[in-house]
Amino acid sequence: MPMIALPETFADATTIDLHMHSTASDGALAPGELMQLCQSRGLSHVALTDHDTVAGVDEARSEAERLGIALLAGTELSVQWRGMTIHVLGYLPDGVRGTLVDGLVAQAAAREARNLEIARRLEAIGLDDALERARATVEGDRPLGRPDFARALVAAELVPDMAAAFKRYLGAGKRGDVKMHWPYLGEAVGWVRDAGGVAVLAHPLRYKLTRRKRGLLLDDFADAGGAGAELISGFQNPDETRDLARQLNERELLASKGSDFHFPGGYLAPGSMSEAPRTAVAPLWQHPALGGFAVG
Ligand code: AMP
Ligand code: MN
Ligand code: MN
Ligand code: MN
Repeated sequence: MPMIALPETFADATTIDLHMHSTASDGALAPGELMQLCQSRGLSHVALTDHDTVAGVDEARSEAERLGIALLAGTELSVQWRGMTIHVLGYLPDGVRGTLVDGLVAQAAAREARNLEIARRLEAIGLDDALERARATVEGDRPLGRPDFARALVAAELVPDMAAAFKRYLGAGKRGDVKMHWPYLGEAVGWVRDAGGVAVLAHPLRYKLTRRKRGLLLDDFADAGGAGAELISGFQNPDETRDLARQLNERELLASKGSDFHFPGGYLAPGSMSEAPRTAVAPLWQHPALGGFAVG
């Protein structure tokens, strides 16, 4: 662990990024390369949060230790809530234990079954052999995700670019947004807690919810045993951030922050995200289960 202690306040924590992806899911950098980029960006405390897996954590861990960066093991679990796909971050200071062991096995199986269904649905709109085409866009044998199907749609010239692939076929509510294989929100939060971990609602502003419905999601998340939510996820509107801070405080939810970094060359890098609001919030790293990470 490095010598840099985390600041007491959320706003002063400028060298922390608790949401990033590697080649263990849909990120472009290998876990070790990602840690090197984090160091060159001046980050002191980071979390690796690949979709539905911790497969990249060991490699990230050895590189983070070499570089003197504090690494928190994590994963971003896909779940369903009221007919929507929602993401839950699980931070795992004690690693994968208890029901989370079988939970992650179930997530891998759910992703495979979901991908078969996505492929079937995309074949119906003219993407023949959709699964093989998605697989062909990926190096290695990591689990496939919607971005891989998006790339296959672009390659087949069925859409002009990735954004259009999500807008027409793969984004929320479109035919390729297949959620029935995912566990319900409360079940996944239970796995994380059973592992001695901390569950955090990922990017609450990105689900296109009304303020009232976002409040219901936060209520259900807190009732299920969730500890906090990402107050800052990449770049976002300051008015929405202030409003979300109020919603977290009302429910005594802790505030987290992350870039949701996936690949270099875009507008996001590790550690790049909107400034914290002036509203006082309790930072996630004050959670007792994250003590070792916070003290450094
Ligand atoms: P999956 O985990 O397979 O459900 O895929 C979800 C992932 O797709 C997200 O984590 C993002 O990395 C990516 N994604 C979602 N929406 C978009 C979009 N509009 N453009 C590009 N990538 C997206
Ligand atoms: Mn992703
Ligand atoms: Mn997400
Ligand atoms: Mn993410």
